[in-house]
Amino acid sequence: MLKVKNVNDSIKDFQVIDMMTQMNHEQLVFCNDKETGLKAIIAIHDTTLGPALGGTRMWNYDCYNDAIIDVLRLSRGMTLKAAITGLSLGGGKAVIIGDSTSDKTENMMRKFGEYVNSLGGKYITAEDVGMTALDMVNVKKETDFVTGIPIEMGGGGDPSSVTAFGVYMGMKASAKYKWGSDNLISKKILVQGVGHVGEKIVKYLTEEGAKVIINDINKSNLKRVSELYNCQSFEGNLIYDLDVDIYSPCALGATINDNTINLLKCEIIAGAANNQLQDEFKHANQLQDMGILYAPDFLINAGGLINVYSEISGYNRENAINQTRKIFDTTLEIFSKAKEENITTQQAALKLAMHRILKAKN
Ligand code: NAD
Repeated sequence: MLKVKNVNDSIKDFQVIDMMTQMNHEQLVFCNDKETGLKAIIAIHDTTLGPALGGTRMWNYDCYNDAIIDVLRLSRGMTLKAAITGLSLGGGKAVIIGDSTSDKTENMMRKFGEYVNSLGGKYITAEDVGMTALDMVNVKKETDFVTGIPIEMGGGGDPSSVTAFGVYMGMKASAKYKWGSDNLISKKILVQGVGHVGEKIVKYLTEEGAKVIINDINKSNLKRVSELYNCQSFEGNLIYDLDVDIYSPCALGATINDNTINLLKCEIIAGAANNQLQDEFKHANQLQDMGILYAPDFLINAGGLINVYSEISGYNRENAINQTRKIFDTTLEIFSKAKEENITTQQAALKLAMHRILKAKN
């Protein structure tokens, strides 16, 4: 399942408390259950604005360190996402180490639910990569601190369609800011990762008349989505220098890094993936210097969080969609603020989110 041979080596090399201090995390919970094979980490980043809500990702990490770094970065992103969206929520996230297609069982999910329950509501979970609404049903057998439950069971269902709508709004706002019109007809758009969110973004874009190119490591999904929406597919990972107007990262994070950034030919980056910039300061500055408009991920992918938040107070889809629509205006505000203050769009978004948290703290 996991390639780390010597666990002692990985602990020796990794200063986890230092990382938590640097990123301001409140708590990290390591879960291990021999019977079900569950190995999970729950990260609670900041609960100033409310309980830490964030999905659970199941991924076959190369080593434990990768899983720890991922959960620390993702949970911080949830704090920022909730704050910039104006929700009374803190930031948290969980990762389960393993292959979601072969290692996941009902008992494993129930055991995970027990761990979530032991935190007494400080952390509320939902689905992320490698998870489905049905997995959340199994988690719910052990805890009430779970969202993303199917609609027929009183929940808001898979949040990915609302996430996709929000990303689409953020992308249209980016087009308006960059080109003077939010019209995406004939724009060449690369969508990397056509899973739950990516596929729905492809639907919005093809319906509007954009020229969509899709990429995914899952070849059967790539073929299915390309046939369904009649769009071009591109196999392999040599996608960064494709001549496109918009690059939409919708797979995993850190795809904008030292190896890829100089290859980019797009004018806008707007996607669903969390933590798209490997280094949020260096790479945001570099994108700005290159004239590429970056729509901060935690700003435009907040639709799913809005949807699961709505579940806590009694689900209302219309309200969730209307609130998600506001991502269009907030994105434009952030772009204007960045220009006014001569800072990157990432910094402008961070500033607004941090302002809300500090105001609540004081
Ligand atoms: P998913 O697992 O359904 O889809 C991810 C897709 O990306 C899969 O089809 C996978 O094969 C593909 N992929 C993985 N690595 C790839 C690579 N290197 N190159 C190309 N394709 C690759 O996940 P999802 O729910 O669609 O989420 C996608 C991204 O959006 C994730 O980063 C997630 O954290 C983020 N996000 C999701 C939601 C949500 O509501 N689901 C909300 C906010 C953010």
